[in-house]
Amino acid sequence: MAAHQEKKPGERNRKNAPNGSRTPQVQWGRAWEVDWFSLASIIFLLMFAPLIVYYFIMSCDQYQCSLIDPLVDLLTGNKHLSDIWNKTPALTYRAAGMYTLWVAFQVVLYVFIPDFCHKFLPGYVGGVQEGAITPAGVVNKYEINGLQAWIITHVLWFANAYYFHFFSPTIIFDNWIPLLWCANILGYVVSTFAMIKGYFFPTNATDCKFTSNFFYDYMMGIEFNPRIGKWFDFKLFFNGRPGIVAWTLINLSYAAKQQELYGQVTNSMILVNVLQGIYVLDFFWNEAWYLKTIDICHDHFGWYLGWGDCVWLPYLYTLQGLYLVNHPVQLGTANAVGILMLGLIGYYIFRVTNHQKDLFRRTNGNCKIWGKKPEYIECSYMSVDGTKHYSKLMTSGFWGWARHFNYTGDLMGSLAYCLTCGFDHILPYFYIIYMTILLTHRCIRDEHRCFSKYGKDWKRYTAAVPYRLLPGIF
Ligand code: NDP
Repeated sequence: MAAHQEKKPGERNRKNAPNGSRTPQVQWGRAWEVDWFSLASIIFLLMFAPLIVYYFIMSCDQYQCSLIDPLVDLLTGNKHLSDIWNKTPALTYRAAGMYTLWVAFQVVLYVFIPDFCHKFLPGYVGGVQEGAITPAGVVNKYEINGLQAWIITHVLWFANAYYFHFFSPTIIFDNWIPLLWCANILGYVVSTFAMIKGYFFPTNATDCKFTSNFFYDYMMGIEFNPRIGKWFDFKLFFNGRPGIVAWTLINLSYAAKQQELYGQVTNSMILVNVLQGIYVLDFFWNEAWYLKTIDICHDHFGWYLGWGDCVWLPYLYTLQGLYLVNHPVQLGTANAVGILMLGLIGYYIFRVTNHQKDLFRRTNGNCKIWGKKPEYIECSYMSVDGTKHYSKLMTSGFWGWARHFNYTGDLMGSLAYCLTCGFDHILPYFYIIYMTILLTHRCIRDEHRCFSKYGKDWKRYTAAVPYRLLPGIF
């Protein structure tokens, strides 16, 4: 019988605070109890997130990316909701076929083609890798082959779009709204399946969490690492592909559309393609490292990841390119160089900060950070089975400047993408607004979890590194 059926949800595995902290603690990992604010946010997101995505994409389709004009039309009675809806392209067989082929192809690349890139790319870590230890004390193995999937997909894209002419490079842009319906269907099917699976046939019952709140469980997930068979890991697949592989293809399709419409690709579009391309390639080059990030090693798989990876990410992370198709911006050289520098410096901070933690953790502190032995705080925590584990929190390098300086770098890069679009509309700035909320919330969420995990050791760490994102400010 599954372990989650043996005790009432919410009663399981509660332990005293680690390290003698007197604060009442819950087992580290996803929340056991849902406060009213989280519940209200979750219900809001479940109800409105799909509408938000629709609104943004529709406004580019029908209102040249103005977020205000549709509202003005509706409020003044100039248009009714049905007018907007009737002008919205419907789901088509062509889009359904394309999307099915796309997802099926990514599944094949993920499941059936073991990684070969690590055999010839120096420094690249691919093939079978281990994830972080889960709250139940499990260490999962993953087949890391995302870089290979990205390369194969892009080679085929260029060959088919520009050499064999099987399809136009604008194909994604041309079917963008019909594809949105397909992505939504997949997002809901996957999230609902994950919920049912968590109840009836979980991959690892001891790593499941139930809060007794249906909406929270649906949104934040029950199973920690749902899998089908030995290798098809839901989190790794949906987190990276099909959404992130598609990101660069979507941008390429936007660039091709600009070329088709205006006979040229603007420098702002090139900047978006280059800066976001670096971010995507970085993701796949460091896919093994991503196994140790919050998405993979702390979050459970629910609607937040399932629908979010299928719909939110490909549709809202690519708004700058979509905007630039509607409003081609040619930046002055000084602005273009300034934005490029901001993006590259942000990327540098993001990458180096992440690398410092990875190196530190991999070598258990036996490494050099900025030419010196790293400073750190020793800490301990318990897993569900009562085993005591030891860990270290680094207090030097960028990790001595702020507790989440990697987020600061990420935010600088995000701002650079938005700035390529000029200041005429708010829509392209959605990304930096969203990332600021996401990463600030993530800081708080992560610190809450770390405190639950490390207790008084975490307090010693926050005393040593008092700021979260900006030294001296926040
Ligand atoms: P981090 O990589 O910062 O990981 C946080 C974890 O690292 C903590 O839970 C803790 O885990 C460990 N840790 C915290 N402080 C220290 C320290 N001083 N020394 C050693 N280990 C420490 O966070 P994320 O996983 O959220 O982010 C990874 C990257 O992904 C970031 O650069 C972020 O910007 C990016 N990102 C991008 C998103 C996007 O949508 N574009 C979304 C989310 C993230 P432990 O329990 O192991 O101690």
